[in-house]
Amino acid sequence: MKPISFKAFWVTEESDGTFKHQIIHRSTNDLPQNGVLIKVAYSSLNYKDALSASGNKGVTRRYPHTPGIDAAGVVIESNNDKFQPGNKVIVTGYDLGMNTMGGYGEYINVPAEWVVPLPEGLNPEESMILGTAGFTASLAIHHLLLCDQKPEDGPVLVTGASGGVGSISVAIASKLGFDVMASSGKTEQYGYLTDLGAKIIVGRTEVDDQSSRMLLRPQWAGAIDTVGGNTLATILKSLKPHGNVASCGNVASPLLNTSVFPFILNGVNLLGVNSATTPMTLRQKLWNNLANEWKPDFQHIKTELVGLDEIHLSIEKILKGKITGRVVLQHIQK
Ligand code: NDP
Repeated sequence: MKPISFKAFWVTEESDGTFKHQIIHRSTNDLPQNGVLIKVAYSSLNYKDALSASGNKGVTRRYPHTPGIDAAGVVIESNNDKFQPGNKVIVTGYDLGMNTMGGYGEYINVPAEWVVPLPEGLNPEESMILGTAGFTASLAIHHLLLCDQKPEDGPVLVTGASGGVGSISVAIASKLGFDVMASSGKTEQYGYLTDLGAKIIVGRTEVDDQSSRMLLRPQWAGAIDTVGGNTLATILKSLKPHGNVASCGNVASPLLNTSVFPFILNGVNLLGVNSATTPMTLRQKLWNNLANEWKPDFQHIKTELVGLDEIHLSIEKILKGKITGRVVLQHIQK
């Protein structure tokens, strides 16, 4: 196939150890020939993209690099019979945007094993309003449900509630009939969280116990935590007996200082969530849920649509915890 020239967000490591970004022109011939060439219409901004864009070697080992762990677009060329040119597809997670050139380029080339057909019920833009954030929210809820979490058990807490994973978790959990308690550091976003379906909203300090007590008054039957650190430790101490918490993130800290008492006295479950490596069968099932019975009301999810030349501003904001809802990157289609 004739090479195609395209624009990409390009992060370089300088000789003084700093990282710079610019928009450059690349050729599809320069991409690794992984099997499925996709013209990307939309990508999105996740916390991990900001880490990759700012030189975090825990996310991206090698630079220069194009971030973007999410992409929605159209197959241009495929070495696998499952995908034909013209098919609308989604790619989220795996190695996309980590050490494989990601969705902040107008084209990606990925293995067929990473590609999900766009489910009926979602358009490409909606799929990227969800993106990894929405998929992670669905995975967290899936884990709670596997542990038999039921609305009548009591409220479900969502931390980092105004962020990407948090917003969509609030929307889906309340759609499924749970009483959602949202914890947020942004008092100005309490109205937004109510619109998403949260019944009760509390500040971040309410889920940040500073006592040395091993167990606290039981408050939540379930939780979806994007914050980690002392917030997750506080949730474990405050879950009702046999409650469940899905651990998704570490915006505050990756460390967890806890005791065994929540587990051996209250029988609570700490559930690990890894969206990037979710097996394809479960991945497709959850995307179908997101397109159907779990589909959130997109009107309520704050979404900012930005172009390639503006994404760096949103990257700076997400690193400061200042994003509300989702940022979707729209590539201008020629
Ligand atoms: P966002 O930045 O969109 O959301 C994070 C939210 O956390 C913020 O909006 C803010 O919400 C809150 N927050 C920010 N800083 C702090 C702080 N210091 N202490 C407590 N709360 C804080 O990020 P994402 O939703 O994209 O990601 C959230 C986390 O989930 C990240 O750690 C990310 O790496 C992780 N993640 C994990 C995945 C997985 O597969 N396990 C997949 C996707 C994301 P508020 O102001 O409302 O409190």
